Amino acid sequence: MGVDVKCPSCGLRFEMDQGLEIGDTTFCSECYTELRIIKTSPMQVEEILDQDDYDDNADE
Ligand SMILES: [Zn+2]
Repeated sequence: MGVDVKCPSCGLRFEMDQGLEIGDTTFCSECYTELRIIKTSPMQVEEILDQDDYDDNADE
């Protein structure tokens, strides 16, 4: 059995493995956004934003 979560990026609802814990990561099967589990009951995820670059140094 999986648990239903909603992708915060595209809104797709999809199933994740139940054994996952807070801090574990996965990705959306629709938009491929990397997601991190922030809550397990109910399961809730947030987007993992690329934190390798410093904002004040961004060149885009
Ligand atoms: Zn998505």
